[in-house]
Amino acid sequence: MRIDLHAHSTASDGTLTPAELVVAAAEAELDVLAITDHDTTAGWLPAERARPAGLTLIRGAELSCRWYGQTPPIPLHLLAYLFDPTYPALVAELARVRRAREERGQRIVERLRSDGVDVTWDEVRGYANGGTVGRPHVALALMRAGLVGSTQEAFEARWLGERYRLPKEDTDVFTALRLVLEAGGVPVFAHPRATKRGAVVPDSLIVELAAAGLVGLEADHEAHAPEERAHVRALAGELGLVVTGSSDFHGTHKPVRLGAFTTAIEAYTQILNSAHGVPALL
Ligand code: AMP
Ligand code: FE
Ligand code: FE
Ligand code: ZN
Repeated sequence: MRIDLHAHSTASDGTLTPAELVVAAAEAELDVLAITDHDTTAGWLPAERARPAGLTLIRGAELSCRWYGQTPPIPLHLLAYLFDPTYPALVAELARVRRAREERGQRIVERLRSDGVDVTWDEVRGYANGGTVGRPHVALALMRAGLVGSTQEAFEARWLGERYRLPKEDTDVFTALRLVLEAGGVPVFAHPRATKRGAVVPDSLIVELAAAGLVGLEADHEAHAPEERAHVRALAGELGLVVTGSSDFHGTHKPVRLGAFTTAIEAYTQILNSAHGVPALL
């Protein structure tokens, strides 16, 4: 079984439509794919409709969270699988975060413009095409303006990595965890040691999250060096958490391919057994 539990579509900052994503997953010889767009479930229905026979679809999302226990607060991503997409408190919070992303996107554009960079909010929003707006869409505008040659370059410190990395009003991580659990979903901490993206949370927070109902940790991820993968695996072992591995596929926004990292069947089964929001689509 080849199981990839983290992938993005045009519903957020991926470059394949949800329909193209499920077809690409089957072509990559995956047996299971989770669609996990940032702060939205908008890709679920088109992915369901296009799902090739033989591919199991796990409906999920990646929630933009922040741990406010330290100053400045540390951003982190919580994967949520198989939750009820109609649970009102979660629906409202996802909508609030998407609005916060738009407001932050506008502030990034304003700062770029005040530095003399010729990009507009309409252009950036256009690249998102109705999906969740993120920095990769700003990266496209920087590429179009001829200022960077790739998304990777756009995330260097002089651009979106630091100078134009403005904070957004993310969900408190404990609130997000509670909402996912209330909606019958399964929370897994995405790339908890992705140090290249900025500060990461201390293990003591992961201990607290585990006590609050966190189910798993994503260990095998391209943003983790081998020693970071080993560290996450050991921590999961100590806390009795499930370990996952996934590509975090974003289409052409990132070089990683579907199925580049995968999750073991035992971990996948534990995730299925913990879920009671919506079923896996077999
Ligand atoms: P945002 O969600 O708007 O804060 O933007 C973060 C998104 O940018 C992540 O989900 C990735 O898709 C992408 N990203 C972050 N760091 C990099 C990087 N170094 N290179 C390419 N894409 C990145
Ligand atoms: Fe992303
Ligand atoms: Fe992420
Ligand atoms: Zn992701």
